[in-house]
Amino acid sequence: VPVVAVVGRPNVGKSTLVNRIIGRRQAVVEDTPGVTRDRVPYDAQWNGRQFTVVDTGGWEPDARDRAKAIAMQAEIAVQTADVVLFVVDAMVGSTDVDEAAVRMLRRSNKPVILVANKADNNAIEMEAVSLWTLGLGEPQVVSALHGRGSGDLLDLILAAMPEPAPPIDDDAPRGPRRVALVGRPNVGKSSLLNKLAKEERAVVDSVAGTTVDPVDSLVGIGGETWQLVDTAGLRKRVSHASGTEYYASLRTAGAIEAAEVAAVLLDASEPISEQDQRILTMVVEAGRALVIAFNKWDLVDDDRRYQLEKEIDRELKRIPWAIRVNISAKTGRAVDKLAPALRKALASWEARVPTGQLNQWLTALVQETPHPVRGGRAPRVLFATQAGTRPPRFVLFTTGLLDPGYQRFVERKLREEFGFEGSPISVTVKPRK
Ligand code: GDP
Repeated sequence: VPVVAVVGRPNVGKSTLVNRIIGRRQAVVEDTPGVTRDRVPYDAQWNGRQFTVVDTGGWEPDARDRAKAIAMQAEIAVQTADVVLFVVDAMVGSTDVDEAAVRMLRRSNKPVILVANKADNNAIEMEAVSLWTLGLGEPQVVSALHGRGSGDLLDLILAAMPEPAPPIDDDAPRGPRRVALVGRPNVGKSSLLNKLAKEERAVVDSVAGTTVDPVDSLVGIGGETWQLVDTAGLRKRVSHASGTEYYASLRTAGAIEAAEVAAVLLDASEPISEQDQRILTMVVEAGRALVIAFNKWDLVDDDRRYQLEKEIDRELKRIPWAIRVNISAKTGRAVDKLAPALRKALASWEARVPTGQLNQWLTALVQETPHPVRGGRAPRVLFATQAGTRPPRFVLFTTGLLDPGYQRFVERKLREEFGFEGSPISVTVKPRK
């Protein structure tokens, strides 16, 4: 939730303004200059957006150095806030104390809104123009007591806030899971689609309550309905003829984007090609769950299978976490392994590690293998959180940037501990000052 801090000299009307913003009359009214108040956060909302207002009123009433006290107060506000309201008294105008605080606020690079309070009438409003000289832009003229200008001010506050994080991250997915069945021409995509449709005798045309793109197919696989994204080209068998490789590649990228999990078909009877690798990269970069199906496994001689698996390990060593199945669309071999593989990959994609468990593991790891010392110092890893899912995203809070090698080490250990088979994961480092 974004934090809005209210900063200003004593008696400019900060409490009244906070009351006006949160829409109730309560708390202390600032009649006495320098009344000590705690930095109490209040819940507020405007136009459906929630935020927290912090009244930073408190400091020693008889502080010797007022300017310093204000500057400190501003400093605290700046550290914690997403938006700062700097309140001045429109009837008094700016003072040297205000100017000291402004210098501090401007260095902070946080969005600051200059509020000229106590503008109870038009005459005072005119006077407020002089506050432009503070260098914080246009003064927002309000009367916290009477409510004048408070709606406009709230609009400005919302506009200055950081974008809300996209919701739905953990929403239970509705309708069939979306799968991209992709692979270069001739690997057997249409054959697999036909096989699935025939075996299951369950090609569905619609699912109640969902709209399915006409280019998609709904197919029953493993007792569950799946939405195979952009299979129109496959069904009509025009995919090879309908355009250049460039066009096909765009189409593949689009299907991957639209899907939650990609089933990438590779031809087991041929070496893994550059084009195959490019498709795999698309999936990883799009952050989708990944199952690799080696098709035409019926063409692989029994005595070559072990060696082939080894070759594949080598070729795919950058994505050892991908789930692999060996199938034959022609004979139907192991086609029933596909649905469980897709389900497992999706479960990893949506997995969430509880913060306590994550940090217990992390503490032990960095104790056992601390960051190597460089130039007499080593950044410390403080703690971690999982910032999101689909795919799992982790943030490491540290005292400095990590060596790329050490970061990869932490990532590898994270997988060893928690799995995530079939899903990419991401780890970002946030150094704290
Ligand atoms: P697409 O371009 O990926 O849709 O590939 P198709 O489904 O059109 O298949 C290309 C060729 O591979 C066709 O001749 C299929 O009969 C053949 N094929 C597909 N799957 C298999 C398989 O599992 N084993 C064998 N031996 N041939 C297959």
